Amino acid sequence: MLLLGIESSCDETGVALVHAERDGVPRLLGAALHSQVAMHRDYGGVVPELASRDHIRRLLPLLREALAQAGVALHEVQAVAYTRGPGLAGALLVGAGLATALACALGVPALGVHHLEGHLLSPFLSADPPAFPFVALLVSGGHTQLMRVDGVGRYALLGETIDDAAGEAFDKSAKLLGLGYPGGPALARLAEQGDAAAFALPRPLMHSGDLDFSFAGLKTAVLTQVRRLGAELEARKADLAAATQAAIVDVLVHKALAALRATGLKRLVVAGGVGANRRLRAQLDEACARHGWRVHYPEPALCTDNGAMIALAAAMRWQAGGWPPQGEGLAFDVRPRWPLEEVALPVAAGG
Ligand code: ATP
Ligand code: MG
Ligand code: FE
Repeated sequence: MLLLGIESSCDETGVALVHAERDGVPRLLGAALHSQVAMHRDYGGVVPELASRDHIRRLLPLLREALAQAGVALHEVQAVAYTRGPGLAGALLVGAGLATALACALGVPALGVHHLEGHLLSPFLSADPPAFPFVALLVSGGHTQLMRVDGVGRYALLGETIDDAAGEAFDKSAKLLGLGYPGGPALARLAEQGDAAAFALPRPLMHSGDLDFSFAGLKTAVLTQVRRLGAELEARKADLAAATQAAIVDVLVHKALAALRATGLKRLVVAGGVGANRRLRAQLDEACARHGWRVHYPEPALCTDNGAMIALAAAMRWQAGGWPPQGEGLAFDVRPRWPLEEVALPVAAGG
């Protein structure tokens, strides 16, 4: 089965081709990606209307690029997967519209994929793919969740943020430090030159006893420090960045380990943009090695939004028997808000 995947939920346009047999891990054949980050930077955040228009501009050239890289022709594509949600409605509609039109022209099914399922399954395209069951720590710009994953379409939410996402905490703190947008990676880079112990920042909900997160208070604490430092900020910036990163990472690591303990599972999968963070990876690696647990990450290029994870999720749902053979017809809609539990697959008999 040759699947085309299209991602357009936010500010990345991604197209990729994945090949899947009935069994075994699907293989990535080619991928093309365009990030709109530079376009939105002047506005300090994603402008939905500009995002939609840019997806329209980028998708067809990216499709050609991905096909060329994979060495396949468009008419060989056997299913077209697209991000149905969650995300920006207008941006989602661009990908959904193109995917459905292509599927119609090719006479193949169009499959609407849940964006977070894509993130969650993305480590299966790495050199060291995980095995089910596992605990997933999903840490992106819009979500922070711990999930128990027993198989494709078998997701149980263990805990999530009650306010800001971890990526948002990185980005908003970075903005307070004058590091631009989206500042998460810049804050992480600056933090490497700083002393994390130089500021005592709160670790919200760290000892709450549940698996929920809260990052809004941390942002306020960073703002308080920025105001207090005033002109001194410039000289102390790297230290404050390091302290902020340490606070976010400490909470994420603490709760991820608690989730492993609570479920008795021995495998952790980290997905989403914040999963690229080096301090987070180092601390999880170290802690899990101590307990004899395994940690799996997506390839760095697949941590943030991309088309490969969308094609992969569709391929794995197909393998799990989760798509009607005729696809979902040519009517389409998008789901800007869409709980992951809604894409549950029935448990196979004996499975
Ligand atoms: P969602 O998937 O929830 O809709 P999204 O697609 O915008 O959100 P991703 O693309 O998965 O999120 O990740 C983007 C986020 O990851 C941003 O908040 C960014 O700052 C953060 N991020 C990327 N690299 C790093 C890093 N090295 N350290 C910390 N944060 C990072
Ligand atoms: Mg993005
Ligand atoms: Fe995402």
